[in-house]
Amino acid sequence: MNKQYDLHAHSTASDGVLSPAELMRRAAQAGVGAMALTDHDTLTGLAEAYDVAHQIGIEFVPGVEISVTWEKRTVHIVGLGIDPESQMLQKGLAQLREFRVWRAEEIARRLVKAGVEDNILKRAYALSNGRLISRTHFARALVELGRAESVSQVFKKFLVSGKPGHVSGQWAALEDAVHWIIEAGGQAVIAHPARYQLKRAQLHALIRAFIAAGGCAIEVVSGSHSRDDYFTMARHARDFGLLASIGSDYHGPENAHIKLGRLPDLPPGCQPIWHDWASA
Ligand code: AMP
Ligand code: MN
Ligand code: MN
Ligand code: MN
Repeated sequence: MNKQYDLHAHSTASDGVLSPAELMRRAAQAGVGAMALTDHDTLTGLAEAYDVAHQIGIEFVPGVEISVTWEKRTVHIVGLGIDPESQMLQKGLAQLREFRVWRAEEIARRLVKAGVEDNILKRAYALSNGRLISRTHFARALVELGRAESVSQVFKKFLVSGKPGHVSGQWAALEDAVHWIIEAGGQAVIAHPARYQLKRAQLHALIRAFIAAGGCAIEVVSGSHSRDDYFTMARHARDFGLLASIGSDYHGPENAHIKLGRLPDLPPGCQPIWHDWASA
């Protein structure tokens, strides 16, 4: 049987529910052969994941998911095989986390103005365990407060464009994010490309800008893609000579649709991103 690769997942170092150690254990139990940790804008979970993966004998791929603003939209770029010691990458991510702190205060201010409990910022931070703060932590806090039934409902009601708690992102430039990843010895991947709901021409423009910056891959199979998306993205990968990646985008057992170790193989004709990895 083919080794299963899952090259996109989150831990408590960002907005995942499981600790890096627990994530690695569950991945091994689920039969994953090579597991990446790709927390949003932080590398703080990598050392723990590396240690546990080493102990239990699952291959570990150190990663990151960088928040990018491209043409006024938020796009996520995954870096795989990065060196967590890279000063340039660390410095770039630290700037993004500063923006997160400012944005969290702004989200809270707007939510309170819209009638939400005035300790919402404290609640969101409590759920982040003092680590990286994200909209997911606000969403979980609002579910706890009974403002909506689920995290995805909170997003729809409060956190997306046009809703009271929405603050637009000012993230890294696409060129910078890709540059940091390459400087750190990694490969840059466009995360869940079907999620951005771009028209064909826009997606092509994104892919061209990404390639010009030095990016080499897109996620073809993703936990947030449909079967049709797999084939559409496989075609884009072939047309643009990009490598293909697979990632669940697992955030924990709270989302029943996305499981570890259950991803389908890449469609035929894709060149896997791991084709020339020493371990492949
Ligand atoms: P942030 O990077 O803090 O803006 O938060 C983005 C994260 O929120 C994503 O990585 C997802 O985990 C989560 N998210 C975004 N949109 C939704 C949604 N509609 N439903 C559930 N989670 C979402
Ligand atoms: Mn997330
Ligand atoms: Mn993402
Ligand atoms: Mn993700």
